[in-house]
Amino acid sequence: MSQQGYVTAPPYSQSQPRMGGFSAGFGPPNSSLHYGHYGDPNSSHAAPQPGMSKPTVPLGSSAPLGPLPPGTHQFSQNNFQSGASAAGQQPHRFQSPPPPNNTGPSYPPSSLHSQPASPHTASTSCTTQLANQLNSMQINSYGPSAIQSSHTSSGHPASFQGPQPLPLTQHQMALPPGPQIPPPANNFSGLCAQSSLPNMARQDGIPGSGLPNPNLQQLPGQTPGPGYHPQQGNYGPQMAGSQLSYPGAFPGGPAQLSGPPQKRLDPDSIPSPIQVIENDKSSRGGQIYATNTRGQVPPLVTTDCLIQDQGHASPRYIRCTTYCFPSTSDMAKQARIPLAAVIQPFATVPQNETPLYVVNHGEAGPIRCNRCKAYMCPFMQFIEGGRRYQCGFCNCINDVPPFFFQHLDHIGRRVDHYERPELSLGSYEYVATLDYCRNNKPPNPPAYIFMIDVSYRNINSGLVKLICDELKTLLDKLPREEQEESSAIRVGFVTYNKVLHFFNVKSNLAQPQMMVVSDVGEVFVPLLDGFLVNFQESRSVVNNLLDQIPEMFADTNESETIFAPVIQAGMEALKAAECAGKLFIFHSSLPTAEAPGKLRNRDDKKLLNTDKEKTLFQPQVNSYESLARDCVANGCCVNLFLFPNQYVDIASLGLVTMHTGGTLYKYNNFQLNSDSPQFLTDLRRDIEKKTGFDAIMRVRTSTGFRATDFFGAIYMNNTTDVEMAAVDCDKAVTVEFKHDDKLNEDSGALIQCAVLYTSISGQRRLRIHNIGLNCSTQLADVYKTCETDALINFFAKSAFKAILSQPLKAVREILVSQTAHMLACYRKNCASPSAVSQLILPDAMKVLPVYVNCLLKSSVLTGRPEIPTDERAYHRQLVMSMGVADTQLFFYPQLLPIHNLDLKSDAVPAAVRCSEERLSEGGAFILANGLSMFLWLGVSTPPELIQGLFNVPSFAHISTEATLLPDLANTYSKKIKSIVEHIQNQKPYTMKLMIVKQREQPEMLFRQFLVEDKSIHGGASYVDFLCCVHKEICQLLN
Ligand SMILES: [Zn+2]
Repeated sequence: MSQQGYVTAPPYSQSQPRMGGFSAGFGPPNSSLHYGHYGDPNSSHAAPQPGMSKPTVPLGSSAPLGPLPPGTHQFSQNNFQSGASAAGQQPHRFQSPPPPNNTGPSYPPSSLHSQPASPHTASTSCTTQLANQLNSMQINSYGPSAIQSSHTSSGHPASFQGPQPLPLTQHQMALPPGPQIPPPANNFSGLCAQSSLPNMARQDGIPGSGLPNPNLQQLPGQTPGPGYHPQQGNYGPQMAGSQLSYPGAFPGGPAQLSGPPQKRLDPDSIPSPIQVIENDKSSRGGQIYATNTRGQVPPLVTTDCLIQDQGHASPRYIRCTTYCFPSTSDMAKQARIPLAAVIQPFATVPQNETPLYVVNHGEAGPIRCNRCKAYMCPFMQFIEGGRRYQCGFCNCINDVPPFFFQHLDHIGRRVDHYERPELSLGSYEYVATLDYCRNNKPPNPPAYIFMIDVSYRNINSGLVKLICDELKTLLDKLPREEQEESSAIRVGFVTYNKVLHFFNVKSNLAQPQMMVVSDVGEVFVPLLDGFLVNFQESRSVVNNLLDQIPEMFADTNESETIFAPVIQAGMEALKAAECAGKLFIFHSSLPTAEAPGKLRNRDDKKLLNTDKEKTLFQPQVNSYESLARDCVANGCCVNLFLFPNQYVDIASLGLVTMHTGGTLYKYNNFQLNSDSPQFLTDLRRDIEKKTGFDAIMRVRTSTGFRATDFFGAIYMNNTTDVEMAAVDCDKAVTVEFKHDDKLNEDSGALIQCAVLYTSISGQRRLRIHNIGLNCSTQLADVYKTCETDALINFFAKSAFKAILSQPLKAVREILVSQTAHMLACYRKNCASPSAVSQLILPDAMKVLPVYVNCLLKSSVLTGRPEIPTDERAYHRQLVMSMGVADTQLFFYPQLLPIHNLDLKSDAVPAAVRCSEERLSEGGAFILANGLSMFLWLGVSTPPELIQGLFNVPSFAHISTEATLLPDLANTYSKKIKSIVEHIQNQKPYTMKLMIVKQREQPEMLFRQFLVEDKSIHGGASYVDFLCCVHKEICQLLN
């Protein structure tokens, strides 16, 4: 994508004047040193600029107020606790990790690497053997001799010590160059019909294959039909002139394949994502994965294993699209494999893995390279008896500070290597010094402000009461540091409709006091003392307030709301209190009241599939962008809980949330009874989340390449500093890299991600993640170490960013084109010679086509009038901040059969492919994609299962109204409830369960998630798409 180049010019990527009180880059500015290749030296190492970018709004100004208690509008900084000082913090005791095992991989011999790579392994029906064979791409297991395995030696030695390189395997199958695929069926009437594959010519191009194929046809490369869009000719020299023919995107020309009906392509003969997932689970699941080797490909994100940090960041924190970068930019351009890392800096680690150690060098602060400012890490090489070290990133020789000096052992390693996290681990934290703090002052602990829309609808639906009741128990669960008894986070409360109401909940008050701000054009904070309080101290006043709010507005008939001034007010309150924090906004409607950020309904289906469609994803008014910038500058993260029953313009409302690292939750047509569990679970989880506040992330690389583009819930003021008002455990930033020189195979490609942030207790810290990748002059090495799940994360985010500035059609075309190019380049450069008609897929990318097709069919990239604009904007926003596990599940949902469970086992059943063919009348299935969950019941579901799950005698008695399964004391119920819990575990959003009965109307919704089938919204089936990609590849190769 990078080579093709989306024209990524979203409206907020322009250089802005620096904001915030700290210098660009972390820590003490070093403006005299510019490490080579950051585009604009002025923006990358700018001198510090004082103060905030916006003058403080005068407090206690003369705007109209409600009943104002005496003295409440006096601002005194003394009323606020000063934050926990960075000094005097106990560093965690660091226990040495076990020495790395340099002799080989740390996982047992049954792992991927040791699988026999022979294509002649006997094929049997045994599942394990099937999995093992798939590991080495013994393709016979996919179907009757349709495809064969082919092994090509990469023909050069691996350039690193460690595990054996993955066997170069590939998926090879015969597909015709492809008939013109007819335009997809877009009518709903075809929904419940058996999904029919188009007649495909099946050309078995494998010598010696015994499959009888009476319809064997060799199709010549075809000329594109009308409506094809010529691509820019900037591909590799062999690949010019590609034409696109994605079946879901274009009404193609008339089918050019005539003659006798063709044999149907067997879906079992094409690569299965489920096989790949199960295969990895069986070979690597439940084992220890030690990160002791550069360029090592981790287990898939769907495989459970215990990760041990032995010098490179855990794949929970960083996953890469490939673990071996091409040495030159020419190679990179030829392959067009995106070089990217998906970084989830605060990812949750399981209880049985070690949390990050905190290093504290006191006033000296973190040790950094003088030239490139990289932090001390395992990539620094100590020399001259330990007195100096060479930076692994820029090669600069630095003196070791006297306090840090240590002797080297006989292999040149410091004798304290295993006692210091920063020398031996991939990830750790540093306590930051005042140089790293806003205005060189230690930060205050963050604050949470709850801002509740009390307009008529929210009061009437019972939502306001629900929120207030829940907060009374939730506020006891605010996050705290492990060693602390209670949370340092302060809380504040605001309600609003057309005006804002602030509440004084100071502990010594008998009753909370309300202050009304009706001048929403120029919002100010009417009180400081008593607005942000410690919940423990003010508990009785706060509870009193929460009891009163629903009653206070019980008779309201106000239906208009404001929105931007609400965010503005929260941000000003945090700014005045000199702390970072989160706003929790509970909002329901399009803000039509006269105020800044006022919106009108601009949803227009006529814009779909036009060049103006992109405007639907852009904010309606500019003020939201400047508001987002101000919020980030003040460390104000905005969490938005939306309860819409019609269009609310999520592209506008969600913008500030998106750029401040906040989370957007949406509950359509909220019903108290059926939707409360989902909403309350989301709210609880969000409030308890471990979060870093007021964060800046910087990604440094070794020489020869650099980070060029960033995707996520982030804000960029310049080309290098990724700003996030907050970053929580679920947020991931995807970073794209480009060459600016040749990469050295010996030294590899090193990446260091540093996140400067304020902890929940108000300590300024740096979280460092390091990872080393290999480099190679052989394209085969690059293909061998690709990770499809990370590639899809990158493709999704870059495409979803691009739609802000480009027509959807162009974005879809680029995706198809890039997929074909990647695969064609493999075919041309890495695969063994074979007939052009064979589709050959690299092993590590064999399910790339099915995932790319899922992405193309996603609601965001499908301009269909049936899909609400808000739904598309919502999905777009969620995906932009997702990590690899979340995008994997989102684009390829999990479909679990539950009618043939082993009730004695604790295991979750293996998933099946997302296709109608896998369903059966006698079956019951759970489907989940991270946002939605379905329980689908076939018409002949066994009565004992129905009785066990629902306590009713038959299929006809099942009510589809329920959103939870009843708690019943039988094994079916317990087992299936535990499966549902397992699916929900660790997911950022609570999934509401929908019960769907076969052949009933709601089944239509469910079927949209059967992503291998032709979509009701016009997307191609997996088989059709594979044929389409194959045709593209043939054209590229010809
Ligand atoms: Zn350096």
